Amino acid sequence: MEMKTIKLSYLAYLGGLTLLWLVSTPLDFTNVKFFTFRNMMLDYTGIIGMGVMSLGMILALRLPILESLLKGLDKSYRLHKWLGITGLVLSLVHYLWANVPKWLVGFGILDKPVRTKPPLESSAILQFFQNQRELAESIGEWAFYGAVLFMVLALVKWFPYRFFFKTHRFISICYLLLVFHSLVLLNFSHWGELLGPMMAMLMAGGSLGAIYSLFNLNGRGKQTSATIEHLQYFEDSKVLRVVLKAQGHWSGHKTGQFSFLTFDKAEGPHPFTIASNWQNDGHLEFLIKELGDYTKTLPKTLEVGQQVDVEGPYGRFDFNSGKERQIWIAGGIGITPFLSRMQDLSNGNRGDKVDLFYCVPSTDSVLTESITDIAETADVNLHLISAEKDGKLDRDTICGLAPDWKNADIWFCGPALFADSLKHELAKVGFSDSRFHQELFEMR
Ligand SMILES: Cc1cc2nc3c(=O)[nH]c(=O)nc-3n(C[C@H](O)[C@H](O)[C@H](O)COP(=O)(O)OP(=O)(O)OC[C@H]3O[C@@H](n4cnc5c(N)ncnc54)[C@H](O)[C@@H]3O)c2cc1C
Repeated sequence: MEMKTIKLSYLAYLGGLTLLWLVSTPLDFTNVKFFTFRNMMLDYTGIIGMGVMSLGMILALRLPILESLLKGLDKSYRLHKWLGITGLVLSLVHYLWANVPKWLVGFGILDKPVRTKPPLESSAILQFFQNQRELAESIGEWAFYGAVLFMVLALVKWFPYRFFFKTHRFISICYLLLVFHSLVLLNFSHWGELLGPMMAMLMAGGSLGAIYSLFNLNGRGKQTSATIEHLQYFEDSKVLRVVLKAQGHWSGHKTGQFSFLTFDKAEGPHPFTIASNWQNDGHLEFLIKELGDYTKTLPKTLEVGQQVDVEGPYGRFDFNSGKERQIWIAGGIGITPFLSRMQDLSNGNRGDKVDLFYCVPSTDSVLTESITDIAETADVNLHLISAEKDGKLDRDTICGLAPDWKNADIWFCGPALFADSLKHELAKVGFSDSRFHQELFEMR
């Protein structure tokens, strides 16, 4: 469901901008000269490229309204990523349209177009823009090289997250330079159409996002400090339980939401689901699995009493689909949002009939035992699926153990590939995608 929202938003945005460009551009395909077509393509790729980058920058602001519209910050970041990839492709195509014809003229393959000096614009602003064209072109070229570098580093997974996190914000500088490039070089005629003011608004929003990212101001209003009150290490599961007590203001959270935790400023924030429900006492609990280089160090480095920066809450994995009958599926550490919900159910907020499929490597761990107890108290029907004994959870097991699955919504938290294969199998028996709610544990 949520993935559909992102896909539709992405397509609607690209379609909308293209439509605006089409109505603002006189298209006359009789007797089209190569360089006229090239200039048209330069205009189109420039506008759509800046349009997607601007929305990407606006999304980086983490505005609550956009988070609600896109059904969670994890989804909003996914859209940000797709917009970034589209921006990368379009700026490359734009660069090629700008330069390949010049290279072909240089090689004598194409004839140099006859240039007539454009008449001096009447308004002082347009005259200023006219005089800045050369500067804007060369700034655009250098900003393009920088943007490509930082976008590629964002997409290449072997580039460690912590370095990605530190370098990614420099893309903002490239973006601001590209705003200058676009303002100067935007076809003057667009300013009299809807497209010009629309692009100006997008670039203003994008510039704000860029400045916020550059100075690390995103999410400032949602930050507070906390101290570590309790630590418990589940050695056999390689999971660390961290209980925090908020020192500053924390206005509470819904079950299933997550926050960014900064244990070490040099490392920066990492997202973790809040595994406890909000009891108005400042306590926030997390279960952190050793999934990578940094999380592996936490059991040895964290100490009770240590200060932690908390930012959030974010996310819309809130179990509110209006359906009373729910099936939950947790893959490994993907159990965390369900733990928070089960605490809620144990505290009297009952009403839902729930089956929880919890997929674990093996069932005999201390953590699994404690989760079994929590499920019992919450009156949740727990099915432990051990990879060792039962293999991978599949559609038939779900439908067999929860026979009224047709009336249920599915809430899933676990590896993306696992979700994709289940969705695919469930679609074959008529289970609609709109009833499959998924938390994305990957931001990049
Ligand atoms: C919305 C959300 C909720 C999550 N909830 C939990 C949870 O409750 N418990 C839990 O154990 N894990 C959770 N994770 C995953 C957790 O954030 C990563 O496992 C952790 O950040 C990995 O850090 P690392 O440096 O040890 O791993 P790496 O080896 O650097 O990376 C492993 C994976 O984590 C990603 N990652 C690394 N650093 C970050 C970061 N700062 N921000 C975002 N992603 C990062 C990488 O892209 C990679 O996919 C959640 C992730 C998201 C997006």
